[in-house]
This record gives sequence, C-alpha cells and structure tokens, in this order.
Amino acid sequence: MKVITTIKEMQAEMLKQKDMGKSIGFVPTMGFLHEGHLTLMRKARQENDIVTISIFVNPIQFGPNEDYETYPRDFEKDQELAMGENVDFLFYPSVEEMYPNPSTIKVIVQERTNVLCGKSRPGHFDGVATVLTKLFHIALPTRAYFGKKDAQQVAVIQGLISDFNFPIELVPVDIVREEDGLAKSSRNVKLLPDERKQAPTLYKSLEMAQDMIEKGERDPLKIISLVKETIENETNSVIDYVEVYSYPGLDPLEKLEGSIIIALAVKFSMVRLIDNVILEIK
Ligand code: AMP
Repeated sequence: MKVITTIKEMQAEMLKQKDMGKSIGFVPTMGFLHEGHLTLMRKARQENDIVTISIFVNPIQFGPNEDYETYPRDFEKDQELAMGENVDFLFYPSVEEMYPNPSTIKVIVQERTNVLCGKSRPGHFDGVATVLTKLFHIALPTRAYFGKKDAQQVAVIQGLISDFNFPIELVPVDIVREEDGLAKSSRNVKLLPDERKQAPTLYKSLEMAQDMIEKGERDPLKIISLVKETIENETNSVIDYVEVYSYPGLDPLEKLEGSIIIALAVKFSMVRLIDNVILEIK
C-alpha cells in the first residue's frame, strides 16, 4: 500500500493506473476506520483492479459548534487496517494541501438539503459536495463507495455525480452494525458507558417502526411518534429529528408507499448519532 499526501502525486498515480486500463474503486473516509469502512473497501476490492481510499477530516463540512477539533483520529491504526484490506493507495492530505488558498468557488447543494441533516447542519452538504468534487478529480475513480448510514449523503452525491457529469458509478453499501444493533460509527467512542448501553435503542426503535409498517400502518406521523417515544423513554439523548420521506427523493409523504426512509439523529452528551432504515412498501 502506498501512502500519498500530495494532490500532484495522487493524480499522477491515478492517471497512470487509468492509462493502463485499470478500474479504480474509491472509498472516501474521515478515518478512525471501523468495520463499516472496511466493508466498503472489501466491496471495492471485489469490483475493481485498484482500491484507493482517502482519509481526510474535511473542515468545511463541520459547522462552527460541531466536533471538527475533537473528531477521533488514529492514522497509525488506520494504515494497518487499510493494509489488511489490500488497499493499493491511501490518500492522506493535510488541510493546507486540500485548501491552500481561500476558496474562490464552492459547490452549493440545491435539492434534498432542507430536511434531515441538511436542515440541522446548515452548509454541511455544501462542504461534502465541495470536497468530493475535489477528491473525484484527484482519485479519478471508476466507482465510488458510500455507506447507506449516511443515506442523505448518498442521495446528494448521486445528484452531484449526475448534475456535474462525473464518469463515476456510485455504489451504496448497507449499514454495518454492532451485534446489539448500534450502527458502527467513528463517533461511537464518544458515548459515555451508560449512553453506550442506551444507544442500541436507536435501531430498536427503527425496527419497531418497521414492524408496525409490516402490520399495515401507513401513517408517517404514527411511525414518527412511535420512534420518538421509544427513544425518549429509553435513553437520555435529546432528539434532533425523526423524519420519514420518500427515498432517494426525500419528499414528504402523507401516506407510506414506495421506497421510503425513516431517519433519525439524536444528541448524547458528547456526540450526535444518526441512523436510518430504507424500506420498500407495496
Ligand atoms: P466517514 O468516515 O464517517 O465519513 O464515513 C466514510 C464512509 O463510510 C461513508 O460513505 C459512510 O457512509 C461509510 N460508513 C460509515 N459508517 C458506516 C456503517 N456503519 N456502515 C456502512 N457504511 C458506513
């Protein structure tokens, strides 16, 4: 595995691979790698000649009161984990390398951002779309792998790829969970011991909602109430949102039908967590 820290070298390497006719699978991450990230890498490994990952905690996607400074980082361990997955190239730029000058252009996401994390985190998806535009130009991927844990991100990036005509196939990957159901996240280390015990309730509440839908409930408001009540009764977290939309369109629904997402975000004392389920309703 080759670790590259400059854009110039990365682009040159990727161009060389492309010239040799190699397909490139790309997994962008913010590091502190866990089984969720590794699953993306394995899928990329299966489907491409070359696997490239990036580790970059992107400052411009964090709001002023968010956790950019305290976001967990462990590059040594990440390197070992990536090597274990036979990653070919690890792109690890500094903030100065990615943003050397005050920017003259940023990507603004117009659709699908007035709900869910887009609403709670103003500017977040502009930061994500901007850094991915750069990373796509740097890593020149054939396919890019994203987790459905960040389902709104998947929908927004699909828009970025199609609106800006990137010749890239987006591959969405299912959420990887702990045995007790908690969605794996780099941020889970920031849960206090008691909160860690409560956190599986997030997924449990989504499973209960799924159950209710399977039994015939089609009113989104009833689903939202069930999820909220479960979280309020069983955790000390503060609910940021529990919402139900069509997916990937993220349009509001009066009645549950077609492809839908039930998504939530909650705040524990040191950390904000998200989770979701995507369902097909006949
Ligand atoms: P992050 O490092 O949090 O930016 O995540 C990098 C990529 O890994 C994103 O596409 C995430 O959606 C994905 N990812 C993070 N956690 C999980 C998980 N538990 N299951 C599947 N994918 C995940």
